[in-house]
Amino acid sequence: MRVGIIALLHESNTFVDQTTGLQEFRDDLLVYREDVHSAFVGGHHEVSGFFEGLDQSEGVEAVPLFGARATPSGVIEEEALEFLVEAILKAIDDEPDLDGLLLAVHGAAVSQQAPDADGAWLTRVRKRVGPEMPMIATLDAHANLSQAMVDSCDALIGYRTNPHLDQHQRGLEAAQLISAILKRKCRPVMAAAFPPLAISIDRQCTDDRHWQRSTQEVDQLRHDPALLSASVLLGFPYADVNEMGAATIAIADGDPQIARQAADKMAAILWDDRQQMVGQLSQIDDAMEQCERLLAESSEDPSHVCLLDMGDNVGGGSPGDGTVLAAELLRRKIGPSFVCLYDPQAVECSRQAGVGASLELFVGGHSDQRHGEPLQLTQAIVKSLHQGRFHEDRPRHGGIVEFDQGLTAILEQGSLTVMVTSQRMVPFSSNQLVSCGLEPTQFRFLVAKGVNAPIAAYQDFCQQFLRVNTPGVTCADLMSLEYVHRRVPLFPWES
Ligand SMILES: [Zn+2]
Repeated sequence: MRVGIIALLHESNTFVDQTTGLQEFRDDLLVYREDVHSAFVGGHHEVSGFFEGLDQSEGVEAVPLFGARATPSGVIEEEALEFLVEAILKAIDDEPDLDGLLLAVHGAAVSQQAPDADGAWLTRVRKRVGPEMPMIATLDAHANLSQAMVDSCDALIGYRTNPHLDQHQRGLEAAQLISAILKRKCRPVMAAAFPPLAISIDRQCTDDRHWQRSTQEVDQLRHDPALLSASVLLGFPYADVNEMGAATIAIADGDPQIARQAADKMAAILWDDRQQMVGQLSQIDDAMEQCERLLAESSEDPSHVCLLDMGDNVGGGSPGDGTVLAAELLRRKIGPSFVCLYDPQAVECSRQAGVGASLELFVGGHSDQRHGEPLQLTQAIVKSLHQGRFHEDRPRHGGIVEFDQGLTAILEQGSLTVMVTSQRMVPFSSNQLVSCGLEPTQFRFLVAKGVNAPIAAYQDFCQQFLRVNTPGVTCADLMSLEYVHRRVPLFPWES
């Protein structure tokens, strides 16, 4: 039996002005057939899990078809989405002997015309293969689940952790489930529930204490042998779409009643904890004063602090050139400190000036007006230049192995080190620093442009994480964003 493998992954932030075109997919990942296998095999991604799981199942063969991913950003241009979906449909047409499909779907893709882009393309795939072919999709925990996604698939399986460290396991789970379906060992029936709840990004770390009770209760449900799978989706708050919010999915073996009850039970568990899901919103001044206090304490073994720049969360679609925290660190002389900014122009200036040169330049703050002014460096020393490619083979958020942030310069002014990159880069691997000759522990304060995802990469050397309520398109304060299309009622706006 032959199972086709497809991946189309994008998290679309509708508050970002810039749209996402085909080039953004080409810059990250756009592969066909065997190249899908080579891009993912042996990694920690759910697609890696698909391949491994199917390999372990006797008589089932993986048929790589298509893979595309772009770094989270603004809504997908309609032409780009059409190109990608047509490529998927053609890849399916070219393989007439498929028995099933495994699909890696983010679940929070929005295109210019389709607020539920993932539901729309999954529906087209379902139409193309007919109602009988088993289709199982994995979803990012940040999926904004839609009924169209549920209706088009036999089973949906969401990541259980944030930072997402169980992607590979969920891929394995999907592969095992489709093998069991093909061997007629089970008959999945799915139910979803949509509690009217949006979870603030700074309450979405599933290792945090306020998740303990609900995680235990959901785990207990999973022990029921009648349930094949159970998922809690956190939702992606930065999409102004009707589907935005948390959701639950239960898959039972043959009994729709059991699936319905489990999905509803998980939704009730989430709803009971809703007060815990409201943002805490630590302010910039408070975070800086805390850093100053730490700096003033004398200690033989000083702690290393990660400042999580919530408003400029690259993994949530923001530009990655926000200067708010860097400006404060520089102004208050808090250091040694580190920040990475997306700024191709500053990279080019540094390249032209050369290593060792002293520059006066503005870095960051170019993408829009919402993430701070360009930061003026008056005497920035170009410490080094790098190709910007690095590798990560440990399990990290996103399951990415090969990274490419383009030509990169390391600038130093006073106690602040600024890494400027030619491509936007998510802070999911400490090798981003190591590959540029920086030892993470040389810094006491490191800005990471994310909220939960960077924790997996930085917890090896940071003892403290401060989530800072900075302004921007991924601002943690949901009340400061203007929603037009969200559901009503939806907690925390309506109680
Ligand atoms: Zn996610």
